Amino acid sequence: MSDVRDSIARAAKIARRDPDDIELIAISKTHPADAITPLIAAGQRVFGENRVQEAQTKWPALIAAHDDIALHLVGQLQSNKADDAVALFDCIHSLDRSSLVKALAKAMDKAGKQVLCFVQVNIGEEEQKGGCAIGDVPALLDQARGADVPVIGLMCVPPLGIEPAPFFALLAKIADDNGLSQLSMGMSGDYETAVMLGATHVRVGSALFGARAQQSQPV
Ligand SMILES: *Cc1c(COP(=O)(O)O)cnc(C)c1O
Repeated sequence: MSDVRDSIARAAKIARRDPDDIELIAISKTHPADAITPLIAAGQRVFGENRVQEAQTKWPALIAAHDDIALHLVGQLQSNKADDAVALFDCIHSLDRSSLVKALAKAMDKAGKQVLCFVQVNIGEEEQKGGCAIGDVPALLDQARGADVPVIGLMCVPPLGIEPAPFFALLAKIADDNGLSQLSMGMSGDYETAVMLGATHVRVGSALFGARAQQSQPV
């Protein structure tokens, strides 16, 4: 973990940013609780999962033992899981459509709990990918504002296999155009680049936990 933190600090320094402005989210998907507890013992407190159901099996016990843990949802969310997601997570990175704004508004209202959200943008305009189309971002933000769903920034997963920097820069520009200050971007292979381009939240899995089985790739 200290290697990743050092790399974040190095990238921040190059960009003349304060490393404390960058949240390292340890993405623990597919890894069991006993792979997670060493990171908690080392001081890591912010974790991410991509499936509600998997998180429900692992996290309640860990959170009961460490009540200062923050849990982020970074994977696609079905509207029928909105109640469960609001109950367990402190932040949702995958708000990407109108029906989900409605479902989350209802779930937050019912639970009496506000969960901070990022709007996920399909930054490479890829067919199979989650995320709101670039052109639909302003309308989705308007809808979220009207529904009292707190959106703090934008999130993206750039296309695989090509240089991610232009996509990070584009996400930063769209956030700026829409008055948003937070950027959830950068994974194990590209978080330093993301930090240099303004990421405030990096989502790092394999660089912290080691490789995963091929399933559960980000979409
Ligand atoms: C799995 C996942 C990550 C972490 O990926 P690594 O390459 O293991 O760092 C980040 N973001 C999302 C949305 C993911 O699903």
